[in-house]
Amino acid sequence: MPEGDTVWNTARVLHRALAGARLTGSDFRVPQLATTDLTGWTVRESASRGKHLLLRLTTPDDARWTLHSHLRMDGAWRAYAPGERWSGRPAHLIRVVLRTPGAVAVGYHLHELALVPTGEEDGLVGHLGPDLLGPDWDPTEAVQRLAAHPEQSIGEALLDQRNLAGVGNLYKCEVLFLRGVSPWTPVGAVPDLPATVALAQRLLAANRGRWTQSTTGSLHRGQTSYVYGRRAQPCRRCGTAIRKEELGERVTYWCPVCQPEQPDTPPPG
Ligand SMILES: [Zn+2]
Repeated sequence: MPEGDTVWNTARVLHRALAGARLTGSDFRVPQLATTDLTGWTVRESASRGKHLLLRLTTPDDARWTLHSHLRMDGAWRAYAPGERWSGRPAHLIRVVLRTPGAVAVGYHLHELALVPTGEEDGLVGHLGPDLLGPDWDPTEAVQRLAAHPEQSIGEALLDQRNLAGVGNLYKCEVLFLRGVSPWTPVGAVPDLPATVALAQRLLAANRGRWTQSTTGSLHRGQTSYVYGRRAQPCRRCGTAIRKEELGERVTYWCPVCQPEQPDTPPPG
């Protein structure tokens, strides 16, 4: 599942493959960019902001542009050597191909693909809260943004990228299990919001540089999470069956014993 750490890793892969190189060809397979040709443009850098990818380019006449993409649930970028077989995904999912003398970057099932002047990036990512894996990560600001809506459930608030950018459903479920907090708890009733935010940052940061997302410390298949994706399986701490319910627009997983409801919290469902 692409969350902040996956996007961070993807940005790094693209940076290593493309940064500093001049594009020898581009092939956009989305209507809004179908006639765009980036041949001759230079890739300055690849960066991530929350779950958004920003590929920053310079035109031959030195104008600065940013190619924005979002992976959502199913997107991916892959980098290949010239001539290497593209093994990532079916060809009909390709949305863009970027070629340099040393690499080919292929974007599969990308969302929100857009080319904007770099000075206007804020129009795409300016609404985001502090980036958990950004160089300017600001936990105090993230806590303040969360606390501004004390009635909202913590499960929904952690997913709202305007509060803090980078947490997806996996980390939301795992953070709340490790903190012993029910996902339905109102933000204002969460015992230690700064500790919750700090834990989210640590979990994402720990998974930088690898593609297996683990919150348990184990990289073995089936042992990488406490509650996420484990409906009806026994809680690793107390043995109670893990539950799965809808919360807002997403499902959530939790242990009803390790994450007890607050007395004044409405029941799930
Ligand atoms: Zn439990």
